[in-house]
Parts: sequence; C-alpha cells; structure tokens
Amino acid sequence: MSHSATSRIQEHIGDPVSDTPPVGREELEEIFQDIQADMRYDHELNGCLNCGICTATCPAAHYYDFSPREIVQLLWTENLEGIYDAMQEKIWSCAQCYTCAARCPFSNSPGGLIMLMRETAIKHGMESAKNVLRPFSRVMLKLISTGNQLSPDMITPDGFADWGPNVAKVDAPLATLRKAIPVPTLHTTKTAWEVNLKTSVELYTIWEETGVLDSLETIDENLFDVILDIMDEKRDDYEDWLDDQDDD
Ligand code: SF4
Ligand code: SF4
Repeated sequence: MSHSATSRIQEHIGDPVSDTPPVGREELEEIFQDIQADMRYDHELNGCLNCGICTATCPAAHYYDFSPREIVQLLWTENLEGIYDAMQEKIWSCAQCYTCAARCPFSNSPGGLIMLMRETAIKHGMESAKNVLRPFSRVMLKLISTGNQLSPDMITPDGFADWGPNVAKVDAPLATLRKAIPVPTLHTTKTAWEVNLKTSVELYTIWEETGVLDSLETIDENLFDVILDIMDEKRDDYEDWLDDQDDD
C-alpha cells in the first residue's frame, strides 16, 4: 500500500491557533503537512507516552533548552504553532545521535523526526536553517569542488571565527597526531582521499536528482551559483578526459 494511503495526513488539522500566529494558518498547515508527507514519518512516530525517557537519555538535553519529548509531543498533538516555534531554534540543538530512538518504548525516533523538521525548514527557506547552515557553506564548497569534505587542517580559529571558542578544541597539532596513527591514508590533513572526476560527476547527478541542489538554492543562492559553475567546469573536464581516452 502506498504511503499516501496509509498516512495520518488530514484534510484539516484541528488544533487551535492563537489570534496572532507568527505566520498564517495556511503556512503552518503546509509546513506540518510537509513533515507528515515524508514516508519516514509514519515509521518514526507511533504514539507517545510523554514518559520522557528520550529526554533523560538525550545528550543535547543536558546542555541546551531542548527536549525530544517536547518535540515529539508537538508533532503527536499536531500543535502547529509549537512545531513552527521549535523549528526556529530548538530542532537545531539535536546531535542526531539516535540514543532516543534506541530507548523509546513506542519505537519512535525523535531524532529522525527532528531530521524531517530540519529538512522541511530548509525546504521553506526558514531563517533558522539559513543561520545554522551558513558556517557550513565552506564545507559544501569543498565537498563539491574536491569530492572531499572539510579536511581537519582547515579547522582553525582564523578560518572559523564564527564557531566561537569551541574551534580551539579541534585546532590540535593534527600532523603530529596523525603520524601516531598507523593508518597510511590518515597521514595527510590536506585531503581525506582522492576523488576521481567520474565519481564527482556522478555525485552531482545524485545531488540534482535527490533535490540537494534545490535545497541549497533555497538556503544560499550565491553559494548555489558558485557551485553550479564548479560543477560545469568539472563536467567539462570529465568530457575532455573521455575524449582523450578515445584518442588513445
Ligand atoms: S538524536 Fe537528537 S534528540 Fe535523540 S538523543 Fe540524540 S541528540 Fe537527543
Ligand atoms: S518519544 Fe518515546 S521516549 Fe520520548 S516521551 Fe514519547 S514515548 Fe517516551
């Protein structure tokens, strides 16, 4: 049976909305329905006892004003304004460790539900998503241009001033530390591994087909333009390489 036939999506969502909602009811409903429409939603929310086991075992709840129990309750009770409010800040506190999913007696996955809310925040171009993802634009740029994610030697206080004092914790003497690790591929901090052109071009196709690039355009149009140029160049390089093979 298809997801649409089994989903709990309703024609009209009945929870009360205040006299002055942050955005119109129509948008609140649209956001909630986008979360519900994901095929993972029914799998990850089966009910909620409000028992708080997830929050008791959640590492993020120890450090932030954040509770997976609260997030699950908002979804379970279809509290549209509460969901929207949580998407402004709280959902970005989750570390995606899924300890909650391993402990919930209802087999819910609060971390998985939060992932759906994050994806929906990106889809709707929410300011919270833009603010949270801005520091990662360099990671995205490097991933697309080299096929590698951020290399450890890029993480320095100068390079990541917006990460605050915590960046100093990872600003370790990496070259020295890596020499102590007996795995040859870890002996460089420049790139994690070499990615060939064919793999890069295949990755671009995956990102296009799965909507990753659409999300990027919603969140950061300038970065999206830069990345499109890089992708075009890499695709041209790959075509040239294929032509060279034919000539040989
Ligand atoms: S996945 Fe998120 S909500 Fe769940 S335990 Fe980890 S940090 Fe907490
Ligand atoms: S999501 Fe699970 S663990 Fe968390 S409050 Fe609900 S029933 Fe309890």
